[in-house]
Amino acid sequence: MKKHNFYAGPSIMSQFTIEETAKAIHDFAGMGLSILEISHRSKQFQAVMDEAVALFKELLEIPEGYSVLFLGGGASLQFAMVPMNMLSTKAAYLDTGVWASKAIKEAKLFGEVDVVASSKDKNYNYIPKDYTVPADMNYFHYTSNNTIYGTEIRKDPDVPVRMISDMSSDIFSRPVDVSKYDLIYGGAQKNLAPSGVTFVIVKDDALGHVDRVIPTMLDYRTHVKKGSMFNTPPVLPIFSALQTLKYYKQLGGIRAIEKMDIEKADCLYNAIDGSKMFVATVPDHADRSIMNVCFVMKPEYKDLEKDFIDFATERGMIGIKGHRDVGGFRASLYNALPLESVKALVAVMKEFEANH
Ligand SMILES: *Cc1c(COP(=O)(O)O)cnc(C)c1O
Repeated sequence: MKKHNFYAGPSIMSQFTIEETAKAIHDFAGMGLSILEISHRSKQFQAVMDEAVALFKELLEIPEGYSVLFLGGGASLQFAMVPMNMLSTKAAYLDTGVWASKAIKEAKLFGEVDVVASSKDKNYNYIPKDYTVPADMNYFHYTSNNTIYGTEIRKDPDVPVRMISDMSSDIFSRPVDVSKYDLIYGGAQKNLAPSGVTFVIVKDDALGHVDRVIPTMLDYRTHVKKGSMFNTPPVLPIFSALQTLKYYKQLGGIRAIEKMDIEKADCLYNAIDGSKMFVATVPDHADRSIMNVCFVMKPEYKDLEKDFIDFATERGMIGIKGHRDVGGFRASLYNALPLESVKALVAVMKEFEANH
């Protein structure tokens, strides 16, 4: 039976990425060796790194003066690296969920943190709108897509300071005005690559303005200077990331991808909104994520949630159980997921509803 992969992360990858990676595991770049066993200093891998950086910059239209890094440690290490490198006095943070809170916790180790707004009062089911960012902040940090709660900020905010964003789960799903940011980061395991690599887009001249001592490996300047090759980088995930970037280019770039993503999300949200049984957890349409669609059963059907998971799983729907902090269901519709999978899920929802 065909499987439809709605996992939140690690998550679905394009067939192209998987096939090219599989080939390189057997024979990388005609070397007669596996990508798993070659030196990261080989000219063949250097070419992969260079092309991945170039294509990343091209697709996101990153202006001059920025570096793209591929590091280890996940988005979670960035929660600490960002303030360690960029926070000298005060920074503003928007609290839109668990990942944002974790970033706030780490930032507090390095300076004063002004949480300008929070949606915790409603279990993070909306994006706060009425807040101001004071102009004396070192930066404003926000999480663009809240993977757990299914909310998303799809427009670059307008604030009087430089921005930093965790774009782990919606990078490459919309155009970004990178010039407004000092730094953008994310774990690659949602829209880019298998787990193990973290992307960082950093404005070169935003670095070096803090007084504290920074350990070599945690200093962005180390990695900028060495082109992400100060130590051994995650070779295989970077190779896979390059394949995904090539695939994105084939699809027509970010604007074409965004169109497809919106069509997929509309298809599922429309089915939920038109259903007697299901209800979306994010009421305001403007706040709804096009990457992670969270929904539950209405109170009168609540005891059928487990049955629905089993019913859907038997029909090939994988990974639709909601995060424990939200419950119900979450369908992640990352870039590599075809519209066909969304339609299959909608059909299963309709079939289940008709049975009850
Ligand atoms: C998945 C996720 C993270 C955590 O990423 P790791 O690479 O596991 O540290 C952080 N932020 C967001 C928005 C995420 O979706």
